[in-house]
Amino acid sequence: MAARTGFSPSLLKKIKSIKKVELHQHVDGSIPPKLAWKLMSKHGLRPVDTYKEMEDLLVLQDREEGSLLSYLDKFHYPLWITQFYDNIVTVVEAMAVEAYSEGVRVLELRYSPIIHTLAGLTIRQTISAALSGLNRAKKRVPIEAGLIVIAMRQHGPHIAKLLARQAVSEAYYLHDRSGVIGFDIAGAERGNPPKLFREAYAIARAGRLGLTAHVGEDEGPSRIWEAVDDLGVSRVGHGCSAVADRELMKRLARDRIAVECCLTSNYQTGAVKRGKEHPIFTFLEKGIPVAICTDNTTVSATSQVTENRLLADRITPELLQTIHRKAVSHSFIGLRNIDKPFRLG
Ligand SMILES: [Zn+2]
Repeated sequence: MAARTGFSPSLLKKIKSIKKVELHQHVDGSIPPKLAWKLMSKHGLRPVDTYKEMEDLLVLQDREEGSLLSYLDKFHYPLWITQFYDNIVTVVEAMAVEAYSEGVRVLELRYSPIIHTLAGLTIRQTISAALSGLNRAKKRVPIEAGLIVIAMRQHGPHIAKLLARQAVSEAYYLHDRSGVIGFDIAGAERGNPPKLFREAYAIARAGRLGLTAHVGEDEGPSRIWEAVDDLGVSRVGHGCSAVADRELMKRLARDRIAVECCLTSNYQTGAVKRGKEHPIFTFLEKGIPVAICTDNTTVSATSQVTENRLLADRITPELLQTIHRKAVSHSFIGLRNIDKPFRLG
């Protein structure tokens, strides 16, 4: 789905001015490329000679499009730099400030602590580094922010339980400032069904964390049913295949289960085929709550303004604003303070 050409400057201005809610954005896939290059250079980790070549490695290229696994390959290089505490603080602070400049006022970032322990950080340190980055950003810009801890599916249910416990031990209600607000599974969807992670989700639920899951991106609607019924999620990451199941869509609408929609990413991974309408339009028609999300601003070369622009052919800026305003109630941040001072809309 390409952005409409000949977009009027006044429409673009309106889209930019919408106060936005970002519920699905990954840390490793959203490091601004120039900052990634700078940090790689600092640590002597340059895999290529020029910034342009590096940018090509960080951003998904057209020839790499079409599968979730090749999309996930783009996380290889960012992980070189996010093994170090200060780097994690720096990149999280930068992406939160960047999100603010796109109009984001409520920001949920997510990452998997365990894949940031390769240079010796503990799981706990990787979480506190990310929280520290959010807190630094909050000193610079008025934004509500929290962290979702991800368990990688391919690491299996035992590691997921371990991460759920760590996530609970850093929960937002134990912190004065930013804390962990939610739990998620991500990574290779095929072969790693949601039901394997039931116990990890039970731990996260008992610890009063919000529950979401990457599901229905590379698999059919039965996996979304599983995430809803077995894991008890109140949100679904991507959930594209739900569009093929009327009963499931009724359930999502009835139980107010929000779908975190990431248009650019969904076309790039093949979750939605090029030329086909994105399911977000059907979800809206069926009364399913949706959030407009970026997934990975760097890998997908996108931003909140770009994602909203993609929808603006068919959705007015006023309705886009309403979608964001409603998405606030699906945020895991608790949003005790959302009415003041950051009232949306
Ligand atoms: Zn994602």
